[in-house]
Amino acid sequence: MNQPAYDVAVIGAGPGGAAAATYLSLAGLKTILLDKAEFPRDKTCGDGLSPRALAVLQDMGLLEKISQVGYTVAQVGLAAPNGDAFREPIPQLKNAPAYATIVPRLTLDNIILERAAAAGAEFRRATVKGIARENGHVLVQANGNGVRAKMAVIATGASTSLLEQTGILKVYPPPAVAARAYFEEMAPIAPAVQFYFEGVPLPGYGWIFPLGERSANVGAGVVRRPGEKNPLSPRTVMEQFMASRPLQPLLQNARQIGPIKGYPLRTDFPTAPTFGEQILLVGESAGLVNPITGEGIDYALESGQMAAAHLVEMFQAGDFSLVQHRRYDQKLRDHFQKLFLFSLRARQLCFNRPTLNWLARPSGPPTRLRRLVINIAMGNQETIDQFSWWQVVKLLLKQTKE
Ligand SMILES: Cc1cc2nc3c(=O)[nH]c(=O)nc-3n(C[C@H](O)[C@H](O)[C@H](O)COP(=O)(O)OP(=O)(O)OC[C@H]3O[C@@H](n4cnc5c(N)ncnc54)[C@H](O)[C@@H]3O)c2cc1C
Repeated sequence: MNQPAYDVAVIGAGPGGAAAATYLSLAGLKTILLDKAEFPRDKTCGDGLSPRALAVLQDMGLLEKISQVGYTVAQVGLAAPNGDAFREPIPQLKNAPAYATIVPRLTLDNIILERAAAAGAEFRRATVKGIARENGHVLVQANGNGVRAKMAVIATGASTSLLEQTGILKVYPPPAVAARAYFEEMAPIAPAVQFYFEGVPLPGYGWIFPLGERSANVGAGVVRRPGEKNPLSPRTVMEQFMASRPLQPLLQNARQIGPIKGYPLRTDFPTAPTFGEQILLVGESAGLVNPITGEGIDYALESGQMAAAHLVEMFQAGDFSLVQHRRYDQKLRDHFQKLFLFSLRARQLCFNRPTLNWLARPSGPPTRLRRLVINIAMGNQETIDQFSWWQVVKLLLKQTKE
């Protein structure tokens, strides 16, 4: 009988897969990391690293390097549909830096992959077409060759073909879609991650994530509705945003670097599967993208770390039963479910013209309420643990009446 050559095969070397491979290797498990792309590779993204993402990168020993290659800002801005705008400091989350860093994914993902390799993970370029089971291990079908491992991790992002092929994903939820482009020589931009609700269809938003004083990742995204007829393409949403009133003066003399690129986002974690037989799902494969901000690097890194810790426990106990798979699901639910339900409800409640205009009105809500909304949007677990959703609604209703 063929013994598996690896303890774990991780499929997808984005932040989720590379973080999982790093922690698995550090714990002494023999790990192979497979990706269809040659690295360094780009990933269509806003490139924004939230405090939660930075906290995991710090734990991986990468914060200094990230600060050297990225652009750091300490403020978050919101511009309402009517043009009113405000900026607030990025909230201080427990054990996380109180700032955001913007790093192009071409650079970021390669740094994390190098970290995984330094920890001992083997990287192989291969497109995985399927995963079969054989004598208690998995056979990962990659470019005609099989890779044998005891367990697999799927971290293939918003691409669902492998999840469909393995039968793990049966219901494909309508994703959000977003597009971005890089600009240089813009008019001077504020040192903040900025969200715009003017010039984009709601519930959606545009963003400027600065990469310097006059350069930025500029993008726009929109949520798809079930059964929507003639939905706007991400490119159209982006072009409308670029032509919008607040963007025009900033982009007037700017130089676009490279094409506009669009990609889907999966934010369906509350109903998404998180495992299959001898397979754990990580990051966007498990629908782990913030439904308000569209940020998913942070949850990919966190779930990569959690999957690795859980696999280490499974190997230590020699227990690969379904019960153990369900425990992983439970850990993810304990960690993320309330956050997602809060975010989805906050999106329904706040992503409309009157509420956004009211939030940004100069004589609008007290600062603490704006900060509450920002804390929820940025996934501050402490805020979310502190309140029930009903308390948040009561607070909002009370303030709108005052
Ligand atoms: C336009 C846009 C803007 C965004 N902006 C932000 C932002 O500013 N901040 C933020 O935090 N998040 C943002 N996101 C979300 C973020 O990009 C993703 O949530 C994040 O990349 C998910 O990480 P991951 O590791 O799960 O998957 P990914 O980063 O998507 O990595 C998946 C990897 O799997 C590989 N792969 C796929 N299929 C196979 C296969 N069959 N075989 C082998 N390899 C395979 C791919 O090549 C890829 O390298 C944005 C998304 C979009 C679309």
